[in-house]
Amino acid sequence: MNVVLLGPPGAGKGTQARRISERYGLVQLSTGDMLRAAIAAGTEIGKLAAQPIARGELLPDDLVIQMIADRLDERDCAKGFVLDGFPRTARQAEALDRMLSQRGIQLDHIIELRTDDAVLVERITGRYQCANCGTAYHESFNPPKVAGVCDVCGGGKFNRRSDDTPATVRSRLEKYHRQTEPVLEYYRGQGQLRWVDAMADIDEVSRQLVSIIAEQKTP
Ligand code: AMP
Repeated sequence: MNVVLLGPPGAGKGTQARRISERYGLVQLSTGDMLRAAIAAGTEIGKLAAQPIARGELLPDDLVIQMIADRLDERDCAKGFVLDGFPRTARQAEALDRMLSQRGIQLDHIIELRTDDAVLVERITGRYQCANCGTAYHESFNPPKVAGVCDVCGGGKFNRRSDDTPATVRSRLEKYHRQTEPVLEYYRGQGQLRWVDAMADIDEVSRQLVSIIAEQKTP
């Protein structure tokens, strides 16, 4: 089963992609995570990615398309994947269709996490994650059960993304409306797009996603 989650920054794509991949035994493919790992490792891609990410701008299509194409050829992707953060432009969506048909695979569920912009700045600027296992938290909406201790791994170190500042978030939202909304149109035109109410709490959004996946009954 192959799933794509779409939606603005802060809609919860990463959190939900992680839950879905764990529940169904899929690989989570997050271009944002891959790029942040490349920056931390100091690779060539990382050097190209650092500035646009810091400014809340998208990277060139060709670069992220190649990154996903390479990743899809790794063996673990055969068990199915959840894409989170890709495609982000109509060109990326078209390239994804091509690379999937070349590999004889298809997308089974394309789901938009729908939100209002008004909540996103607060959601994004309050979020942080466990430095050890990556579990996501939010200062007001989703703190750990015991302050300063990760619920999942017991770790005590957390970090924030350097692009989660109010100014960068505004730029990322503007890019989303201008460059990524056409992706919704692209899939709507193919009759493939479903949506969930991502203003609901995290568990409720997960329930909506699982019910769409169950209802469409794909392998
Ligand atoms: P994310 O973690 O999905 O919010 O992505 C963080 C940043 O990585 C974005 O603001 C972009 O600068 C870059 N990025 C991630 N995915 C893509 C993509 N598919 N196309 C272009 N840039 C991307």
